[in-house]
Amino acid sequence: MTSILPQLGQWHGPEDLRRLQEKQLAQTITWASRSPFYRRSLASTALPTTAADLAGLPLTSKQDLRDNYPFGMLAVPKERLATYHESSGTAGQPTPSYYTAEDWVDLAERFARKWIGMSAADVFLVRTPYALLLTGHLAHAAGRLHGATVVPGDNRSLAMPYARVVRVMHDLGVTLTWSVPTECLIWAATAAAAGHRPGADFPALRALFVGGEPLTDARRARISRLWGVPVIEEYGSTETGSLAGECPNGRMHLWADRALFEVYDPRTGTVDVEGEGQLVVTPLFREAMPLLRYNLEDNVSVSYADCACGWNLPTVQVLGRAAFGYAVGAATVTQHRLEEVVFSLPDSHGVVFWRARAEPAVLRIEIEVAPEHRAAAVAELTAKVRDVFGVDSEVVGLAPGTLIPHEALTSMPDVVKPRSLFGPGEDWGKALLYY
Ligand SMILES: [Zn+2]
Repeated sequence: MTSILPQLGQWHGPEDLRRLQEKQLAQTITWASRSPFYRRSLASTALPTTAADLAGLPLTSKQDLRDNYPFGMLAVPKERLATYHESSGTAGQPTPSYYTAEDWVDLAERFARKWIGMSAADVFLVRTPYALLLTGHLAHAAGRLHGATVVPGDNRSLAMPYARVVRVMHDLGVTLTWSVPTECLIWAATAAAAGHRPGADFPALRALFVGGEPLTDARRARISRLWGVPVIEEYGSTETGSLAGECPNGRMHLWADRALFEVYDPRTGTVDVEGEGQLVVTPLFREAMPLLRYNLEDNVSVSYADCACGWNLPTVQVLGRAAFGYAVGAATVTQHRLEEVVFSLPDSHGVVFWRARAEPAVLRIEIEVAPEHRAAAVAELTAKVRDVFGVDSEVVGLAPGTLIPHEALTSMPDVVKPRSLFGPGEDWGKALLYY
């Protein structure tokens, strides 16, 4: 399939990229001015024609999207919509997103920019939700774009317990997967419960695509060692689709040929093209629901430093809630740093499932660990926590199956269809509500 949209390798340096962005900006503004929301907000402003002018417009917030639920941001006749999505809102307020078929070409192409490639030879397990988010459909469309066989393995469906995921991965020769990183660890435990070795008994597997959850280098490396394949990270949202992906050098690049990016400092109210702050995005090829200066409120660090991959795209580090932590004694314990510490234990201890509770005077940590490694793992983790945070911890080694019950990895519940007529001995408790 040939696309008229910009493709990697078509621009040579920042000037060239800027020209490409500005060429599309006028179209983006025209599209935006067709939506009731932007018609109102743009009415009193001179329409921007350059990326620099854009900074004169107010930011669009997630709350704006909620306030304009469902179709206040719609810029095309409803007949042209291809899909409607919502992201999980707080306090039950839905955040709507919708796309035309043309918007979907841009969406699918952005997600499909994986350095390892996708082709008709691939069997691609999509293990993120299909309802009501974008993520499952996004990966699905990207796989289809390149002719891959897509296995729709929705992680919120009763029809797809872990045992079935691993059976499918094994028996179908799944080559690529898309999920949150935690799934990859649970699959490894599920595979072991089914008598398979994750690193050896899935020879077709080429890579694990992950996103949607913070991931430290230590955990990522652990997942990669467990499965013996690269872990390739992706960053995006239901409101925007894929915003960044990894190059062969392991750096995350923003798709700046498809969207304009700014970094907003909420303390000063200023924006910059790089540095640390909240990521603000203006998608350039989005007609159904244009967004001008949409503030994702994700903390990021953006850099225009060169990368040897030659993509000529800025890099982004998603800090997310990395800075958020709980006080324990005089220290602040963040999930990010604690995860690094837990996953720095030797692989041979087999510790992958854990949880912790930060209390004012002590950090309580529970790890799943086999009895033969328990004493060593507990002692090492206690020492590491003291080294890194300077706080006391109470580490408890739990039997495997305590945090992630064995049954969750092995059960294969029946998913039944509704039915009204039953035989004399049959359970008719779930006649119509078939959950
Ligand atoms: Zn690169």
